[in-house]
Amino acid sequence: MMRPMKLAGNELMFGKGCLEYLKILKGSRAMIVMTGPTLEKTGILEKVVLYLKEANIDSIVFNEVEPDPSFATVWKGAQAMKKYKPDLIIALGGGSAMDAAKAMWVCYEHPQISELSDILPPKQIPKLRKKARMVCIPSTSGTASEVSRSVVITDEKTKIKYGIGNMEMIPDIAICDPEVTASLPPKITAETGLDALTHAIEAYVSRRANYISDLFAIQAVKDIFEYLPKAYEESTNLDYREKMLNASLIAGLAFTNVSLGIVHSMAHTLGSCFAVPHGLADAVILPYIVEYNSANTEAADRYKTLENELGIKDFVIAVKELKKKLNIPSGFSGIITNKEKYYAKLGDMAVMALNDGCTKTNPIIPSIDDLIELFKKVY
Ligand SMILES: [Zn+2]
Repeated sequence: MMRPMKLAGNELMFGKGCLEYLKILKGSRAMIVMTGPTLEKTGILEKVVLYLKEANIDSIVFNEVEPDPSFATVWKGAQAMKKYKPDLIIALGGGSAMDAAKAMWVCYEHPQISELSDILPPKQIPKLRKKARMVCIPSTSGTASEVSRSVVITDEKTKIKYGIGNMEMIPDIAICDPEVTASLPPKITAETGLDALTHAIEAYVSRRANYISDLFAIQAVKDIFEYLPKAYEESTNLDYREKMLNASLIAGLAFTNVSLGIVHSMAHTLGSCFAVPHGLADAVILPYIVEYNSANTEAADRYKTLENELGIKDFVIAVKELKKKLNIPSGFSGIITNKEKYYAKLGDMAVMALNDGCTKTNPIIPSIDDLIELFKKVY
């Protein structure tokens, strides 16, 4: 049976200048969650604080979120929230800031949660929104955490990354203003943009894909093919930034409902085992999996549809060409330089990828041997 679609929280703001929506937010105290000082230097934080003031909302900043946030950081932020008692949590940043803020929100609402295992399956995410509403202001066009039900949190003791998903964690308000993404350096624009492309493609061939998710996925693929190279070349052009941010948003609306595939299963695994940044991992793996999935006739038909939509002949070649334009390497050998260690881990990695939550919606359910071969190929 089909699963219900949820198209993000209550309020979805996008387009140039929509950051001003903060001026009419309802609330009294906001905790702004960030990753370091970048958005302070660009003046975006100052704008956020000023707009909140106009709405009579006081705010404080927690800016200690690291890339690949740990549960220790989530816990620290939640303690700060328990003290300040915000009725608004505002994540300002990329996937790490948004994921950490969403997890802090869960711990803040439910003080009995004290360990990562308290929110990992089979445990459920409890009801939220008794204390605060969640606002996300993304600074990258990639993870779509602003409309997704998922967070990725690292266990600082084992270094394992856990993807946790629950519709309860879809933020209430997403404010997607291209100006916030304008300072993103080209390399991050490329990697996060290809993460968004992977979301769209994997959602489109997902075993749970449906009429509505298809509309978003196809449009996102088209926009990303057209505008990602442009945003990469001309990073301050807000028109290109807006196209990419909107494409990332709709790709997020699609995948958060119909899930992903084994590009993500493998990328999560390489993130855990070799700390490969998520977007870069997706970007390297993507064309190999399009090739692999093409053995499934339904998926092959869907890639054909994308070829027609894009006016191209071969989807795999088009993805490879796009990667080349964006200076993404074709394999991991230059990224994970310890080849011996990589090969020694193939078996473990195959098991991890097979057990990843994204595997079950891939067009083909791979065997362990398939995954070992694929991990060899992408190296
Ligand atoms: Zn992703």
